[in-house]
Amino acid sequence: MSLEVDAVREAKREGRGVVGIYCEFTPRELILAANAVPVCLCGANARTIPAAETVLPANLCPLIKSSFGYILTNRCPFYMVLDLVVAETTCDGKKKMYELIAEKKPIHVLELTQKSEEVEAFDHWLSEVRKLKVKLEQTLKVSITDEALRRSIRAMNHERQLLKRAFELGKENPPIVTGRELSDLRYRISGHQGHLEMLAAFIADIGRRKEEGKFAALSGTPRILLTGCPTAQGTTKLIEVIEESGAIVVAQETCSGLKPLDIMVAEDGDPLEAIARKYFQLPCSCMTPNKGRPELIGRLCRDYKVDAVIDLVWQACHTYNVESYLIDQFVREELGMPYMKVETDYSDSDRERLKMRVQTLIEML
Ligand code: SF4
Ligand code: SF4
Repeated sequence: MSLEVDAVREAKREGRGVVGIYCEFTPRELILAANAVPVCLCGANARTIPAAETVLPANLCPLIKSSFGYILTNRCPFYMVLDLVVAETTCDGKKKMYELIAEKKPIHVLELTQKSEEVEAFDHWLSEVRKLKVKLEQTLKVSITDEALRRSIRAMNHERQLLKRAFELGKENPPIVTGRELSDLRYRISGHQGHLEMLAAFIADIGRRKEEGKFAALSGTPRILLTGCPTAQGTTKLIEVIEESGAIVVAQETCSGLKPLDIMVAEDGDPLEAIARKYFQLPCSCMTPNKGRPELIGRLCRDYKVDAVIDLVWQACHTYNVESYLIDQFVREELGMPYMKVETDYSDSDRERLKMRVQTLIEML
């Protein structure tokens, strides 16, 4: 965090823009091509929720409440220096929360058309991405050239490839890395050289464990795929519980894991269209239907030799909650694997109950 705060301060001193984002649908390549820093804003702390509940309804997802609470309590170190927040119409709670943020900061909302299989839907999304380019140019008083877009596509692809290689260490059997270690890799700003160096060092260090015969768990330890809502530093309770219960999270099919790393941006053709195409393929539960998610889960289960799937649903996240019925069916009937849904929030109050449920699942494997 301190490295990131320093990097953002340095960018400000250099006269660069700083743009806040909340979701994996935000095309960070555009922000980088505008010579600005994309910063994923804070939203993973239970302590900011009571403040948010003075404005927002209590029965809203903790991620939305925590994000809004950070703003109300001035705890997000990046928020004060932002030139713009870029957001999308994903779930209803977030979309309405953005209207409240708009009273405090300039915000640009991309309309995300949700029938992602339809040609018109992509055309509309592409026009939204074009409008974002104009908005960034006007706000930051820059011109975003095709050449700058191509450079930022290559930079973001490189960053995603590195992160993907780190997550792919989870394929090793016996495991050489824990899900907890992998979830600590998350960072808030993109396009930062310091992160790339840390990621490369992490991959090299963990890779050496195999040569040295140092394993993160014994051979035969139940291997879990985590799917569902994203986690972040501070909200990894379920990953901790799974690993404290004697299993290991080898694959994370979430926005905090492999989901946004699965597809790269095409480096040829029209750069704006290539960027729009990559993001529009993200298999988020706000899409209807969301066929990409079972496809990705099935592929990861095979590649990571998974024994069971655990689906994390943040309380009041209706899209992931309803979709869990389809994922349950897919995992049990098509993959022939045990499946468990966990609905929880950011508090620690259900940790022991969760442990009992996870242990019961593990005993069956
Ligand atoms: S799960 Fe959906 S809404 Fe949440 S960060 Fe990912 S893409 Fe965005
Ligand atoms: S977890 Fe669900 S409800 Fe919460 S912000 Fe993400 S998509 Fe929206």
